[in-house]
Amino acid sequence: MRIGVLALQGDVREHVAALAACGAEAVPVRRESELDAVDGLVIPGGESTAMSRLLGVFELYDPLVKRLRDGLPAYGSCAGMIMLASKILDTRPDARHLDALDVTVRRNAFGRQVESFETDLSFAGITDRPGERPVRAVFIRAPWVEETGPGVQVLATVDRGPAAGRVVAVRQGNVLATSFHPEVTGDVRVHEFFVDMVATA
Ligand code: GLN
Repeated sequence: MRIGVLALQGDVREHVAALAACGAEAVPVRRESELDAVDGLVIPGGESTAMSRLLGVFELYDPLVKRLRDGLPAYGSCAGMIMLASKILDTRPDARHLDALDVTVRRNAFGRQVESFETDLSFAGITDRPGERPVRAVFIRAPWVEETGPGVQVLATVDRGPAAGRVVAVRQGNVLATSFHPEVTGDVRVHEFFVDMVATA
């Protein structure tokens, strides 16, 4: 099983390492031929408007939209969540996104006071198994999910502090997205969750 990490911009290396730690073959994806060769794709954190522009420059936008429509399993973290969403609030008018996940997300939603923070989360499908500790979630200028369509499952919400109740992890079919960055914590359970999604797809 080969899983790609979109490598135009953002924290690519950390995702490659986390996927490899889960036993997947992890490869950076910058060209259409590389995209064709993967069974799943991670879209990393970074800057969604820059990533949007680079998808055009690298001629990957149309091929990626097509593969997602054909059911390619995908996991977007932070800026990657923004890229996968169907509707983005507080973005630039010229920013393009991939429309693979029926959610409305708000960019930089947590506000200036709490631009970056960490918290422990319950995560459906991970922490509800016996003996599992919470998932440590690191948020860096993160988006949150404001609305979810009918086919979207909420996997995690913030349970304390000023952002309590905000939706920060969702899944719709083969598409997974988190507002936070599991690749920086050394805990690979969210990547394992995605690798399992790719394996069963
Ligand atoms: N704020 C960034 C954006 O809008 C996302 C930040 C991140 O990926 N850590 O794309």
